[in-house]
Amino acid sequence: MNIVRNFSRFLFGSECLACGVASQPLDPWLCEDCRKKLAEENVSVENGADAFSFYTMGAVSRKLIHGLKYGNMPGMASYLVRNSKAVLEEFKAWLPPHDRLYFVPVPLHSSRFRERGYNQTQKICQALSSLCKGRVLDLLGRRNFSTSQTKLSRGERCANVAGAFFVKKRVKPLARDLFVVVDDVYTTGATTGACLYAMRKYGIENAKVCTMLYERSISAAVDLAADNAVVWDYR
Ligand SMILES: [Zn+2]
Repeated sequence: MNIVRNFSRFLFGSECLACGVASQPLDPWLCEDCRKKLAEENVSVENGADAFSFYTMGAVSRKLIHGLKYGNMPGMASYLVRNSKAVLEEFKAWLPPHDRLYFVPVPLHSSRFRERGYNQTQKICQALSSLCKGRVLDLLGRRNFSTSQTKLSRGERCANVAGAFFVKKRVKPLARDLFVVVDDVYTTGATTGACLYAMRKYGIENAKVCTMLYERSISAAVDLAADNAVVWDYR
């Protein structure tokens, strides 16, 4: 509920989203001190050849991504993208040569979409495509499962995740087209890995992953649990 309280304070009293203090001018989400802290978390991470993250998870970036995911703040996607030092420099250089660049959002579970009214990964894609001269491609669908994920064994959960996504749009990839799967937080890589798997099965080989945050600590499990603590309906 903190995020809701902070958001209403932001609306009515202009308080910093990260620390709740209103004594300094905001930019518009953060006070100067928290903005400096965010700059320290502005450290990109390359996870092998296939995955790139713009920030490492820290106290401020965690609050901002929380606002994007749970606080009804879709504009936070473009704020974080525009404030990332890595987006225009290292990220562009990290991408292999290509003719057409597509940003592919990880689809949200349908119940999450109903709750939020938007898919945060789609918002990140939109911000990236305007900065990197790419296009947003709503390529993937997500299957729903009826059994609660928490009741399954680890192996069953992995099998569910592996088969959770499918290519829903007919595309004819050309040899030098590049597809970048976009997610908010990189934790174990299981979700984006499942997206890449679905795309490769379809014949899309030239694909990579980028995420807003890289989370290496144990709290990754909390986010993962929050995203999967739903009763999935199997269709
Ligand atoms: Zn602050």
